[in-house]
Amino acid sequence: MPDFSLTEEDRSLQDLARKFAKGDMAPHAAECDRAGRFPEEIYRKAFELGLMNLNVPTEYGGSGLTLLQQCVIVEELAHACAGMTTSIIANCLALEPILLGGSEEQKRAILTPFCGSYHLASFCLTEPAGGSDAGAIATRARPDGDSYVLSGEKCFITNGPHASLYTVFASVDPALKHRGIAAFVVPRGTPGVVPGREEEKMGHRASSTSTVRFEEARIPKGNRLGAEGDGFSIAMRTLDQTRTPIGALATGIAQAAIDHAAAYSLKRQTFGKPIAEHQAIQFKLADMAMKVAASRLLTWQSAWTIDRGERGTLESSMAKCFASDSAMRVADEAIQIFGGYGYMKDYPVEKLLRDAKLAQIYEGANEIQRIVIAKQLLKAYE
Ligand SMILES: Cc1cc2nc3c(=O)[nH]c(=O)nc-3n(C[C@H](O)[C@H](O)[C@H](O)COP(=O)(O)OP(=O)(O)OC[C@H]3O[C@@H](n4cnc5c(N)ncnc54)[C@H](O)[C@@H]3O)c2cc1C
Repeated sequence: MPDFSLTEEDRSLQDLARKFAKGDMAPHAAECDRAGRFPEEIYRKAFELGLMNLNVPTEYGGSGLTLLQQCVIVEELAHACAGMTTSIIANCLALEPILLGGSEEQKRAILTPFCGSYHLASFCLTEPAGGSDAGAIATRARPDGDSYVLSGEKCFITNGPHASLYTVFASVDPALKHRGIAAFVVPRGTPGVVPGREEEKMGHRASSTSTVRFEEARIPKGNRLGAEGDGFSIAMRTLDQTRTPIGALATGIAQAAIDHAAAYSLKRQTFGKPIAEHQAIQFKLADMAMKVAASRLLTWQSAWTIDRGERGTLESSMAKCFASDSAMRVADEAIQIFGGYGYMKDYPVEKLLRDAKLAQIYEGANEIQRIVIAKQLLKAYE
């Protein structure tokens, strides 16, 4: 990746996202976090500005952005509020399986009306019995004439209660394990589709998370994406695409932590001088800055690799894992720099720690990313 500069178009997208983040998201971040409020008016505005459906090509009504551009936007949004960002980018996660596995006819029929006005979508893979072992999902899709009948329960589904469309992974034949999984598009109004109650979460409290139950929900065979056994591969390829923006989200959280901590360190005095003049604080800030710079570079490198047409499994795992681990460390140090005030909800840094934690867990926990990275690494030595 020889050229680290953003194009004029990238910069104008960054400016748009920064202005929206500062003007519309940041002023409501603390209140939404405290109340666990889902600020639909902000999500609607994000849609109107073209900051949703970022990965959907313009021919289907999306923003048609490169992955690098998506990452630049996501970092800006997450700097203001990671929870709102999670709900905004959940559409990219839910729509990617349609882009990867859908026929041209399905893309036109599903994506064009969806992207034509404000809608939310949910990606439904995780189940109560486990998320990491995605090949072992228990939700069943029973073929019945020209339909499938879905039964089972998904959990931790972002935007679950608000989505008008679900991409759902279910097993057509459990004996085939991951090769028996299929992917489906399920419209909200389908009888038997039952979103559950909102989870009470530690962070990302402006986003919404729930179970989604399928109680003998009948969907036409035409709503299947790809062939019957393609579901697992579609899910994994989707996550290869969407892990990189999680690296950007984590970078945005960490950059916010530095911005708050550096400004505070110049104002707060101990022993007759600003704490920024104590070398111990300077070293913390320096370590934080190195982690953020490295996170951004890994994220951009991953986006660049995928934008060139490569799958980017290794790069996206590295970016997501490193940036989210770094964001946890950087947010923790920001709290330390704030001292006792850092522990108080009146100040913005404790939220950053709670928000950073999720980035280590969702879209594949970091233990799973390390398994992926080691597997890819060892291949080169076989
Ligand atoms: C707020 C939130 C939003 C989410 N949004 C969505 C969504 O929109 N759609 C969706 O489908 N899912 C979503 N998820 C689910 C998320 O992707 C899963 O929580 C995650 O993949 C981990 O699965 P699990 O929670 O079942 O943990 P488990 O799979 O039970 O794992 C528990 C622990 O064991 C570790 N572990 C598991 N297997 C191994 C192994 N082989 N070696 C080493 N360690 C291992 C894990 O890393 C983890 O630390 C969301 C989760 C949260 C919390």
